[in-house]
Amino acid sequence: MYSAVDRGVWCSEVHRGCQAQFHSHDSVVGVSCLAAMAASNVEGSQHNRAGKEIIMQPPITSEVVVAYAQCPRKAYLLLFGPEQGIPHEYIRILERQRQENHERYVNLLQHNHADVHPYTVENLRNGRSVLLNARLQAEGYEATCSALRRVEGTSSGGTPWYEPTICVGTYSINTDQKRELVFTGYVLAHVQHTPPVAGSMIGVDGRTHTIKLDKSATDLLSLLAPLRAWTTTAAPEPPPIILNKHCPLCPFQRLCHAQAEQEDNLSLLDSLSTAKMVKKYARKGIFTVNQLSYLYRPRKQRKRSRKSVVPRHDVALQALVIRTGKIFILRRPELSRQPVEIFLDIEGIPDQHRYYLMGLFICEGERGTYHAVWADTGAEEEQMWHQFLTLLQEYPDAPLYHYGSYEPKAIATLGHR
Ligand code: SF4
Repeated sequence: MYSAVDRGVWCSEVHRGCQAQFHSHDSVVGVSCLAAMAASNVEGSQHNRAGKEIIMQPPITSEVVVAYAQCPRKAYLLLFGPEQGIPHEYIRILERQRQENHERYVNLLQHNHADVHPYTVENLRNGRSVLLNARLQAEGYEATCSALRRVEGTSSGGTPWYEPTICVGTYSINTDQKRELVFTGYVLAHVQHTPPVAGSMIGVDGRTHTIKLDKSATDLLSLLAPLRAWTTTAAPEPPPIILNKHCPLCPFQRLCHAQAEQEDNLSLLDSLSTAKMVKKYARKGIFTVNQLSYLYRPRKQRKRSRKSVVPRHDVALQALVIRTGKIFILRRPELSRQPVEIFLDIEGIPDQHRYYLMGLFICEGERGTYHAVWADTGAEEEQMWHQFLTLLQEYPDAPLYHYGSYEPKAIATLGHR
């Protein structure tokens, strides 16, 4: 159940101006209310002097809310940008899977339930058991879900009470998808005057994941506040570009990257991809990669110290490398070669929490042999692991080389399983 605070937070939002929206014939009225409210907030700057024209504000959708948590600039571009960018191929695949999953789920509901109807405000008021393809609109917010399912009891306004169900294009549920469900629950709370306690997500394998919605209300409101400020301001400023780990999948990647290069933006350096770090340098008057490159000072070895200075990653040195186009070697890497060395690569499917390939290159002097052990299904993973161990046991003294941290984590996971 909702804590008193959470319930208070959600309910105060629910009751503010929502009553009129619910009693209207069409929930779109909520959007025009916001437009009118926004227009009045900007003291006439968004409607012409004669007050004849009202500019509609874009609705705050699930996509925008999820985007704000990933990168505020992405949310801004979705809301106010002239174009919607180019979706990444991986995102298109997920969207196709989500759509197929949605169709499967809707078919299943239609076969298994007698009281299934399309979503309309009227069907919701009449308390139908299952409402399909819901587009919920209230207070300038807009969320869609595959179905609303009626739960026991009635809301505080005396109307039937529903919980949202969303279909996703993945096997497991990630934070963005949970956030989408929480936002959908929030908009539904406005529509039915009572916050839903839980919601469901249907994975592509048909599994239902039940998510408690009351826990995340505070997190959601912290995202909605700045979005609300944008949509009620005459000409909101776009957030600065800070390239980050989400950029490779973002539809605006090309646009932002081109602008970042033009600006010689600090976040072009991977390790400066957080607003906090960029601000830290801005306080010192450093705004570009070129400026940063002049900060590099090599660390000196103390004369009497026997310990050699361990090289650490230095962003200023990285910037210097880019400015000069030269390679700097801080210390030659030392590798003690062994008669037998093994190079390891492991591949997995993170969404399904499983590994399907362990590849080894065994180097014995001048001779090298490749070995690949596979698991075509999750059930074969254990067999793959034992084959891998059998191969290793033949070379008990050989060092194992790998790239990055994925392989040690995979070995720890597989060993534990
Ligand atoms: S490309 Fe990166 S910086 Fe630009 S909007 Fe997308 S996530 Fe934000």
